[in-house]
Amino acid sequence: MFGKTAKEATRNTDRAVQRCIDPSCGGTYGLRERIYVCPRCSGTLEIDCRLVAREDAAAVRRKWAERAASRDPRDQSGVWRYREMLPFDEDAPFVTLFEGNTPIYDAPRSAKYCGLDGLRLKHQGCNPTGSFKDTGMTAAITQAVVLGARTAVCASTGNTAASLAAYAGRAALQSAILLPRGQISAAKLAQSLDYGALVCEIDGNFDDCMRLIQELGDDPSIYVANSINPFRIEGQKTVAYEMMEQSAWQVPDHVVVPGGNMGNSTALGKGFQELFDLGLIKRLPKLSVIQAEGAAPLAHLFANLDPAKSAGGEHLPETMAPVENPRTLATAIKIGAPVSWKKALRAVLRSSGKIISVSEQEIADAKAMIGRDGIGCEPASATTVAGMKKLVAAGHIRPGDSVVGVLTGHVLKDPDYVSHYHRGTLSLESGAKDGAAPQRIAGAFQNAPVNVAANKAAILATLERRR
Ligand SMILES: [Zn+2]
Repeated sequence: MFGKTAKEATRNTDRAVQRCIDPSCGGTYGLRERIYVCPRCSGTLEIDCRLVAREDAAAVRRKWAERAASRDPRDQSGVWRYREMLPFDEDAPFVTLFEGNTPIYDAPRSAKYCGLDGLRLKHQGCNPTGSFKDTGMTAAITQAVVLGARTAVCASTGNTAASLAAYAGRAALQSAILLPRGQISAAKLAQSLDYGALVCEIDGNFDDCMRLIQELGDDPSIYVANSINPFRIEGQKTVAYEMMEQSAWQVPDHVVVPGGNMGNSTALGKGFQELFDLGLIKRLPKLSVIQAEGAAPLAHLFANLDPAKSAGGEHLPETMAPVENPRTLATAIKIGAPVSWKKALRAVLRSSGKIISVSEQEIADAKAMIGRDGIGCEPASATTVAGMKKLVAAGHIRPGDSVVGVLTGHVLKDPDYVSHYHRGTLSLESGAKDGAAPQRIAGAFQNAPVNVAANKAAILATLERRR
């Protein structure tokens, strides 16, 4: 795709730069500079791959499709298969678990629940460690190896930790993980332990862990692989490419994603924008982000934007008021101060999407509906279907529109939640100091186990009652 001309560098890493996203700063830095924010203004960084189309769209699509059948390990990865688009060279020390290659499912029951004629769900929970984080982590840990780091670290609500631990394990790097004590699911913690990470439980919340990580990033032996890491966004953007291949290059009207630290929405927005800029797609899907009501700083900001000033995403607000004590059972998006909020907001505004929030009850019921489709997901993922239902009701999504929701984590990431919902015992602590009663979440689509006598007739009678 990027053939040689006299003027242009042939290696991706000679061409790509790290760029500050604040247009009034515009600082650019080499790929080998180990920085996580702009050294000049502390702004967020992104990678500008300076992509140039060298082949027509049909030739590029054909090449990617051919690689899907190749036995080359790089081609078996759903990320490295698109390596022309990434800030790495052909001979980079790729660290891969054959991430990506995730299915896209029809979800008729969930569609009906939302008021849609049809709905597809792309399940990033089918990645090697059970979450969407793997598509980004393969790129971040590869970059850690390129830079010669000894230890990869992150602060995480769980999924990132599991992914970092696995990829660091593959690369034989030490990994360390900072977690808020007692706030993550046992299943996710178990993964990090099994992959050999040093797990540091911190007395504090996720935002405290983030602050510590930023301080640790000054140490030259350490590579920070948090959401703020722009190389992770590069890996994750390939989800947009894969989604388009699976859609026969027909651009969906809407793509809907959960919003926590906002890396996912940022990455999808970047991926679609690059396809558009290269002429591989003719329009952008409307990208919408759904947050949990108790952890929705960006949805609050979005609701109060001046539409005249914000259209197109060229003039972004300087600050976003964080949520001091985020509250939601969807622990993967329980984040009060998302680091990538500006990049995500820009992507949503450019595509004319929305950022809204949904309640705990709406998340829980949508999750059960995704389960009924035989798909299943972790609680945070279900914000997509809960959000679509609201966006259809509000007229932003029309019933006949083509819609793809991105599910971010596997149903087994949080089995306690599932069990409590179906037994009718799910609840959220109030968080208030006066000891207010927990908020009970009703199991509207409850499916508790039943006691049945040990004989065939009793089982058949029970089946008949449920038909
Ligand atoms: Zn800057």
